[in-house]
Amino acid sequence: MRSLIFKDRSKLSPYYIPAVLPHREKQIQLLGSIYMKMLDDIDGAYPVYTQIVGSVGTGKTCTTLRFGRMLTEEAERRGIRLEHVYMNCKVDGSTRFVLFGNLVKKVAPELSTRSLSGEEMLHRLVEYLKDRRKYVFISFDEIDYFVQRNPKERIIYSLTRIPEIHPSEPCPIIGEIFISRSLQWRELLEPSERSTLGLGIIEFPKYKADQIGDILEQRVEEAFQPGVVGDDVITLISDITASPAVDGDVRVGLDLLYFSGNLAENLGASRVLPDHVRKVFSETNPTITMEDIISLDENCKLILLALVRSLQATGSAYIGLRELRESYGVVCEEFGVKPIETFEEHLQDLVYRGIVDMKSLMELGISGASLIDLERVLNGLTERLRHGLES
Ligand code: ADP
Ligand code: MG
Repeated sequence: MRSLIFKDRSKLSPYYIPAVLPHREKQIQLLGSIYMKMLDDIDGAYPVYTQIVGSVGTGKTCTTLRFGRMLTEEAERRGIRLEHVYMNCKVDGSTRFVLFGNLVKKVAPELSTRSLSGEEMLHRLVEYLKDRRKYVFISFDEIDYFVQRNPKERIIYSLTRIPEIHPSEPCPIIGEIFISRSLQWRELLEPSERSTLGLGIIEFPKYKADQIGDILEQRVEEAFQPGVVGDDVITLISDITASPAVDGDVRVGLDLLYFSGNLAENLGASRVLPDHVRKVFSETNPTITMEDIISLDENCKLILLALVRSLQATGSAYIGLRELRESYGVVCEEFGVKPIETFEEHLQDLVYRGIVDMKSLMELGISGASLIDLERVLNGLTERLRHGLES
């Protein structure tokens, strides 16, 4: 059935990347000035490392992906076989072994890495690319999450020393981008790692309310039926998104737009109203977004759902580990899956991701949800988990 509210919901998905990214022209131009000219002399290329730094929802990921596409398209026009490989440390592995294994899998699925060490995997990958005269440009997103979890893995060392595998020969890896929320993770690195990483840093400042307005307006045009979302609604969402509670995270703004549209539709309204936005916002936990939930594996989603249910049942802000385990058992039964043995590791992962707040083994709660707004936030979270488990 044709929706009276939405024209194309997928344009609000966290994975959709618009062709034009307002207010990120400068960052794209900077990336271009570093990497585009390498295409002029691809065989003389030596890898260049760039760090992208900015807080949550400043467009780091979408800008990198957009730029990666621009670069590979330009390469294609010039007959160069260049691929952009995007690695998200939260999804593709938080140990060196898993991350490098996934990197190889993305570039060269036919290359078997069984029984190879991380270092050997990189060697094979370089050989593989050289043999085929292929080039790659790699981005490592959420690198701060990786390094915080595994400060001893020294992956930056391995990743930035790749050219030394064949010194004085061209390197098929023309660039690496490391994306993080702040520069803090660099303090966990060895001095030698910091030095090869270099000082090429591109900053992504927080968006201001009017910039958020431009971004949302563009999305409204693509996602909603004409006339359904008025300027008043866009201004309200932009102001909420720029406010200290949300701190400029556009992802929250897009979530608000999407769930407000859903609410309007469910209520049979013909337009999205400011009241719909206010209701949805009151149920939103700004520290946990749809994207955070989608990027969780099934087990983490079920543990989170179990936590939300127990908190709802007890009406308190925290529950103990034993209660959570019991609740998890019930949720697993409901979904017809076997409880995992690595329950505690998964729970720890939720803590690292900033979703679960663990004060002690007796006090597990949801980050950023106080007792006052707990009920509303938990309802909102249940709704998002439902979406997440369905997709
Ligand atoms: P970050 O990686 O910095 O946390 P993302 O790149 O994931 O942020 O952006 C969050 C959401 O906001 C994504 O859905 C993205 O498409 C959207 N977004 C961010 N910046 C822009 C922009 N300048 N124009 C359009 N959409 C944007
Ligand atoms: Mg990101």
